[in-house]
Amino acid sequence: MTLAHEMPMRAAMLPRHDWTREEVRALFALPFPELIFQAAMVHRQHFDPTEVQISTLLSIKTGGCPEDCAYCPQSAKFDTGVKAEKLMEVEAVLAEARAAKAGGATRFCMGAAWRAPKDRDLDKVCAMVKGVKALGMETCVTLGMLDGAQAERLKQSGLDYYNHNLDTSPEFYGEIITTRCYQDRLDTLAHVRDAGINVCCGGIVGMGEGPEDRVGMIATLAALPVHPESVPINMLVQVEGTPLSGAAKLDAFDFVRTIAVARITMPTSMVRLSAGREDMSEETQALCFIAGANSIFYGPKLLTTPNPGRDRDMRLLDKLGLRAME
Ligand code: SF4
Repeated sequence: MTLAHEMPMRAAMLPRHDWTREEVRALFALPFPELIFQAAMVHRQHFDPTEVQISTLLSIKTGGCPEDCAYCPQSAKFDTGVKAEKLMEVEAVLAEARAAKAGGATRFCMGAAWRAPKDRDLDKVCAMVKGVKALGMETCVTLGMLDGAQAERLKQSGLDYYNHNLDTSPEFYGEIITTRCYQDRLDTLAHVRDAGINVCCGGIVGMGEGPEDRVGMIATLAALPVHPESVPINMLVQVEGTPLSGAAKLDAFDFVRTIAVARITMPTSMVRLSAGREDMSEETQALCFIAGANSIFYGPKLLTTPNPGRDRDMRLLDKLGLRAME
């Protein structure tokens, strides 16, 4: 791998979709300071590095999911104490969106624990999307697998982003989920893209995967025909009762490396420092921002797991001289 001071800078930093595993592996293998330096340079080419985009995530339908994602407390297959609830009413969701807006969020994400939405559920979600848009916020939903017609309906309601993560590498995927395959995920992403909705797609690390799986996950994302506009990188939040409870913890530097490689390979995407911040030191989070993360989830809860409170986040952004993106 060429070191930064030897790189033909402009050519190296334009978005590319032909990243090979070898190239991605070589980025991960760079000396840590060199990797962070390259990522920080790429970040500056496309973004103001002092700005952080703030999203809020609300669980609009919690628990009782028939899928078996080994990290997820909302799967009905694991005894985690998460109670299955019905889809929230539209007005209740809009009240939460108003509060999120007042707290500085510019994007409101709504998550439902489904394998795939039923059409009658989609009617309600479309009404939520319309209502949140009317508040002047960007909208994002994550509802599981979609077919083309469902993606089109969401687009018609004004949806800006659809979240559907690849989770991990194609090779490790079967260790984490058995109720749907990697290709199902890619198909949903293609339906979302075809409908003209922006894509939010990333993954989770710290699930017991090996370094090559982190390479494979980023290489797959970076080789998509269009890079996801948002790339959430999550650190596993271990929840008792899930199969991944007790998994070996990932070293913080490996997490930061994953952020940096995502930034370099997908230079124009928002890279989101997503789940796992509650247990992360301020110093690790600061390194993630230096390495090119420029988006966070804000608010005390991420679906069903804890997240730092708003005050704590604001204090951290203040300490680092960062500010919320308009
Ligand atoms: S991650 Fe989503 S699809 Fe998987 S079990 Fe949890 S709610 Fe269901």
